[in-house]
Amino acid sequence: MTGRRAIGSTDVLLVVDVQNDFCPGGGLAVPSGHEVVPLINRLAQRFEHVVLTQDWHPPAHQSFASTHSGRKPYETIEVAYGPQILWPDHCIQATPGADFCEDLQIAHAQLVLRKGYHRHIDSYSAFYENDRKTHTGLASYLRERGLARVFVSGLAFDFCVRYSAEDGKREGFDVLVIEDACRGIDVAGSMDATRRSFRELGIACMAGASIG
Ligand SMILES: [Zn+2]
Repeated sequence: MTGRRAIGSTDVLLVVDVQNDFCPGGGLAVPSGHEVVPLINRLAQRFEHVVLTQDWHPPAHQSFASTHSGRKPYETIEVAYGPQILWPDHCIQATPGADFCEDLQIAHAQLVLRKGYHRHIDSYSAFYENDRKTHTGLASYLRERGLARVFVSGLAFDFCVRYSAEDGKREGFDVLVIEDACRGIDVAGSMDATRRSFRELGIACMAGASIG
């Protein structure tokens, strides 16, 4: 955890995938995922610039176990770009599961960035899809708007938050993760792997209370 951070006009709050399917009762529920909402709502009031990401898959997406006969959720398969964990169906375009949590109230959010809409490529990161080549456009958007420091929050800590934070750092942004504004899934040690990776890359984890 790091010291107190004043928020300014070149800072942005990135709110990752706070959608019904990632909350209890949803298709790919993150344990206690809904608990991040009140804190994220409060934090958002401190930021002039807020970007929301929205996982947004077509039906029969390659990342769904149900798309592959004989496969179960959380198995890993090889696809064109390497290993891919198979997930329960989630965040299918224009279904209630893909909607933002009803309690998420950030009317001043400036951009809703959808990801995962290519049937054959999953997208954990808000910056690149999982082939590591296809850009979402977020890096250019942030640069063109003069936004330099990215505070990351949302779901899940060890997947979409992790990859968004790492790629933001690689793209040259100053990245901080607001850890208590995230919840994780923990598949095969993914929480520990995330913390290790953040340490190696110099990505600071902080508490929401230290944003002043
Ligand atoms: Zn997804």
